Amino acid sequence: MRNRDRTRLLSALNSVSWVIGAALFAVLLALTALLNRELAAREARAIQAYLDTRVVQVQAELMDAADDHASIHRRMAARIGYGDDFDPGFWRADARTILNDFAYYDRLAVLDRDMNVLAYEGPAGVGLAPGDPFPIGPAARRRLEEQPFEEGAMALEPMPLAGRPHGLLFMTSVPAGDEPGWLAVVVELPAAIAAELEDYEFGDIALRSQMPGARFRLPADVPAAAFADGDTRPLEITLDDGQSRLRFELALRPEARAAMASGLPETVLGLGSVLALLTSVAALLAMASARQARFLAQANRSLNDEIHDRELAERELAFLLTHDTLTDLPNRAGMMQALDRAVARRAPGRSLAVLYLDLDQFKDINETLGHHVGDELLRQLPVRLGSALDPADRIGRLGGDEFLVLAERRSRERITELARALLAAFDRPFAIDEHALFVTVSIGVTTLDADQSPAELVQNADAALFRAKHLGRNQFAWFDPELVAEVQRRLTMSRAIREALDSERFTVVYQPIVDLETLEMRGVEALLRWPQDDGPGIPPREFIRVAEETGLVHRLGQYAVERALDDLQDWWRQFGSGPWLAVNISGAQFREPDFVDALAAQLQARNVPPERIHLEITEDVLIENLAQNRAVLDRLDRLGMSLVVDDFGVGYSSMAYIKNFPVSAIKIDQGFIRDLESDPDDQAITRTICDLSRMLRLDTVAEGIEHPAQLTMLRRFGCPYGQGFLFLEPSGPDVIRDVLAGRRSWVKRAEPATAS
Ligand code: C2E
Ligand code: MG
Ligand code: MG
Repeated sequence: MRNRDRTRLLSALNSVSWVIGAALFAVLLALTALLNRELAAREARAIQAYLDTRVVQVQAELMDAADDHASIHRRMAARIGYGDDFDPGFWRADARTILNDFAYYDRLAVLDRDMNVLAYEGPAGVGLAPGDPFPIGPAARRRLEEQPFEEGAMALEPMPLAGRPHGLLFMTSVPAGDEPGWLAVVVELPAAIAAELEDYEFGDIALRSQMPGARFRLPADVPAAAFADGDTRPLEITLDDGQSRLRFELALRPEARAAMASGLPETVLGLGSVLALLTSVAALLAMASARQARFLAQANRSLNDEIHDRELAERELAFLLTHDTLTDLPNRAGMMQALDRAVARRAPGRSLAVLYLDLDQFKDINETLGHHVGDELLRQLPVRLGSALDPADRIGRLGGDEFLVLAERRSRERITELARALLAAFDRPFAIDEHALFVTVSIGVTTLDADQSPAELVQNADAALFRAKHLGRNQFAWFDPELVAEVQRRLTMSRAIREALDSERFTVVYQPIVDLETLEMRGVEALLRWPQDDGPGIPPREFIRVAEETGLVHRLGQYAVERALDDLQDWWRQFGSGPWLAVNISGAQFREPDFVDALAAQLQARNVPPERIHLEITEDVLIENLAQNRAVLDRLDRLGMSLVVDDFGVGYSSMAYIKNFPVSAIKIDQGFIRDLESDPDDQAITRTICDLSRMLRLDTVAEGIEHPAQLTMLRRFGCPYGQGFLFLEPSGPDVIRDVLAGRRSWVKRAEPATAS
């Protein structure tokens, strides 16, 4: 997962967990609220129940008190009734005792039947003298009159008192024979209730009177708000007369209510909220840590993947470094490592062989059929070679068409068998596209016998390969320490060739090509010479071979052609006529892609007509790559140059081939001429070549004519041209000029009989 995606996912997860956290919080909070409400309701119900009980208790208490006072009044009224005479003095003393005993008794009076004052005891100055009507309201008066008088009727009426607002009037009948009357007692109600309830635990409740004209609260300092929340109970006290009622409202006092409240619902609410919050936060944290754990696991996984990828890449890199991409075989580095290991643990009694393989015609295949065919051939090779190898043998590609095989065998014979098997693996053609390619291979073989280094082993195998190539390819050659010297010589020589080219030390000599009938010079063959300061020159075959092997032959060939063309120009210019020029072209030169163009350019630059040029190529070069050579030869032919097959007879000697090429002459190899006088075979061959050439309308040149007898015989065979020491050794341009000028002739030497 890429980092950007990861971040996006994380933030999405983040918001999801916030939502979950918030939802959890809401649910927990709702549950807490429910619990709180339930608890609060229970608490409220408990308070209601308590209130109910308190109402009953307080009611009972006040009723008892009211009953007590009623009987006090009745007893006093009875005392007034003793005897027919009412004794005010006696009553007043009685009244004062009561007023003293009960602080909340305000005044007392004895009234006659019509409720006029007979006697009065109480605060002075209220204007109640005997004979005055007692201030009683009409409603109360009516209620009193309706009751049977004898039963000690009681009436009750609020009565404002000076400085004591809530007075209550109690009327008790005085059954005094013929002169009944009333005992009027005025009580200060709040003080009375307070006093009555004093003994009892009044502490936690409050009362509020509900009577019109007598509104007060008990205790006086209870706030009105105590009655405001609806948690109140009506409390009614019915007095003896069954009609007078004291009506109150009872409430719990705020401090009592506060004391009763357990605080549990609030605690639950508070704790619950906190708990909900904590739980949500914990859930959030848990989710975050789970996410973090997932993230870490994911990161771990991607780290693992990365390590794994890197390991793969490293392994791949190591493979690439030591392997060839085309064939998947180990490359040079891989093979050198394998060789290192093999050298290190060579088994006693076994020979470690290194076989260096090189395809013989790979360059041609690439050039004529294209590189994809060449590549495919290389790809098929491991399988083909593998068929000749043991499983423990190693094979690798060193580059190009070069392969290396490492094998351990018990003896030199076994290694030879392996080399033969590898050669035989190429007996069958390779099928590539529509082609059936016959390919051969050359193999250089060496073994580890002293303590050569792996690099030396490969070098030795390479030297042996060179020998196998040199011996004619499609074979194997064993390494020979001599080879190293040869390789060394080759190296030294190629360096010397380069230097000699740079300092123009090569020279060109010319050997006349003579008309065998007239002995006139018709052409010259240009031959390269490399003079040495100290001793005889190096034979051209030798340095040309090295130049071919080291890629210098192209330069060398151009150099020779240039020199020869210059000389040719001189002769023609000087004499108005001259010989044709035969130039030797090696296989390597011939295969150069720009060979024809470069040669044509050289001719053009000097204005030399192409007809004056004969190109000598050997048979094996001619047939080496039929298709490609055919095209090159056709181009040269079209340009007007003649083609000559050099050294004819040493190789395939197939007239059938030659017939198919635009060839104008063949040169009979000097090997047939050397013993021509004495060897009937050579005679037969030479005669046949001459006959066939004539039939094919080809010219023939006999090489290496040294004796007049050879000339005689060749004339008999009808060979038109020849060259050799008999006429002139290869010589410098001045000598040719002398010949052209008629200052030098070989006629006497060539035809001694005629001449003498
Ligand atoms: P080749 O083309 O067959 O040249 C003829 C060789 O025979 C020359 O050897 C010549 O000196 C030698 N020869 C001529 N007449 C006689 C004779 O009567 N008796 C004997 N024994 N030998 C005779 P040379 O000059 O040593 O050249 C050897 C080969 O080197 C040539 O064989 C040719 O293949 C090659 N070569 C020489 N110069 C060049 C060159 O400029 N370019 C290329 N590519 N090859 C060259
Ligand atoms: Mg030649
Ligand atoms: Mg020759």
